[in-house]
Amino acid sequence: REDELLGSVVAERKRRVAAVIEEVERSLATPTALLRSIADAMVTEMERGLRGDIHAQLKMLISYVDNLPTGDEHGLFYALDLGGTNFRVLRVQLGGREKRVVKQQYEEVSIPPHLMVGTSMELFDFIAAALAKFVDTEGEDFHLPEGRQRELGFTFSFPVNQTSISSGTLIKWTKGFSINGAVGEDVVSELSRAMERQGLDMKVTALVNDTVGTLAGGRYNDNDVVAAVILGTGTNAAYVEHANAIPKWTGLLPKSGNMVSARTPYTWKTKVYATIVINTEWGSFKSDKLPLSEYDKIMDFESLNPGEQIYEKMISGMYLGEIVRRILLKLAHDASLFGDVVPPKLEQPFVLRTPDMSAMHHDSSHDLKILGSKLKDIVGIADTSLEVRYITRHICDLVAERGARLAAAGIYSILKKIGRDKVPNGESKMPRTVVALDGGLYEHYKKFSSCVEATLTDLLGEEASSSVVAKLANDGSGIGAALLAASHSQYAEVD
Ligand code: BGC
Ligand code: MG
Repeated sequence: REDELLGSVVAERKRRVAAVIEEVERSLATPTALLRSIADAMVTEMERGLRGDIHAQLKMLISYVDNLPTGDEHGLFYALDLGGTNFRVLRVQLGGREKRVVKQQYEEVSIPPHLMVGTSMELFDFIAAALAKFVDTEGEDFHLPEGRQRELGFTFSFPVNQTSISSGTLIKWTKGFSINGAVGEDVVSELSRAMERQGLDMKVTALVNDTVGTLAGGRYNDNDVVAAVILGTGTNAAYVEHANAIPKWTGLLPKSGNMVSARTPYTWKTKVYATIVINTEWGSFKSDKLPLSEYDKIMDFESLNPGEQIYEKMISGMYLGEIVRRILLKLAHDASLFGDVVPPKLEQPFVLRTPDMSAMHHDSSHDLKILGSKLKDIVGIADTSLEVRYITRHICDLVAERGARLAAAGIYSILKKIGRDKVPNGESKMPRTVVALDGGLYEHYKKFSSCVEATLTDLLGEEASSSVVAKLANDGSGIGAALLAASHSQYAEVD
């Protein structure tokens, strides 16, 4: 009698667990046909953004970078990279075409969480102070010619309306930053004022998004880099666009120009186009085609920026662990996954971080020991059954796979936009096409990055994908910003 009763309780619980899992699988599904239509919708939004349509979801920001690094850059330059959980300061001695990067040093500082939601002055003072300290440690390997001011490339990884290569106003905060009064302000003048308060004599000669920095750093090492993608705390992409494909660009065509030659398909003549780097800000993409689940909707509603950065919230490192937590919580509530009581710790937003999710997901031991001990740390339950562990790993898999596949659709849409998604008419092969990728999610979450690559190959098909290379550009954005600071140096004419 007792056994019977227990048996039916267990069966009922299993039924409820299975029902929730099925529902989750259904709402997170990303069949290839759906990815293709998402990519098409993104291309349409890119075109709207380039036209300057104010309702376009992809802002397609003009970076003012019309000259990507050539390798000739030389001198001492600094870079400052702000936008994730850490910020980084860097100095590099560039030796021109022969010697390239002679020496570089960097330091990483984590940002105290209260500064991410405090005042603009506090944040910039903190950054400028760390930078000043770093400049003080400049050794003999670095050389600044007599009478010159130090120069800095500022990587600021938020959407900015650039007004020149070295100025721009903040459009909005993303990724857990929310500082009053900063929107609409010129971030370079804020940084410059903070540097002055520190007594630091330094000039910002380039303001770049991290995607643009990564593109510049990538191009320095490989001439075939056409786009850069960040998969980290947030997500975004930049790419090289033809100036004549940007109707909203009213400025002059670049003087010197980062000219590319392309063979027009029918005439076999070489034409020269001027190009400009575009920061897509694809994180703000939104479409009813996106597989948005109830977990996404509630997470968005409770976030610092409700209704915004929807694509980013389905893909990037700040959110993946949190989505998994919300699904586990649902399983705890509706199907007693962790026993009769819902573990109170599991109710806490953001307790499950994406690096923990990754560690759980990658556990391939037969008893899922690592996963078990993570659950103990995070959820506070020591003796989870093997079944519970398998279920948890499966949820990690579903959430990571959806994010990775959506990211691949984004990369595919950029390749489509620039005609590098198939062999051009009349040609036998597609030119070698390199996408530089950076960000902790891509670098450290192997199952995620291999899924991005496999999905991209699938979308491109065998022929085109054999010409496309996804390349990890580790910390390319810092060096990229320094390179752009060099090519936009106030002394560039003199040299
Ligand atoms: C920002 C982008 C940035 C990306 C990656 C997003 O939240 O809007 O400007 O490039 O994160 O850091
Ligand atoms: Mg970064």
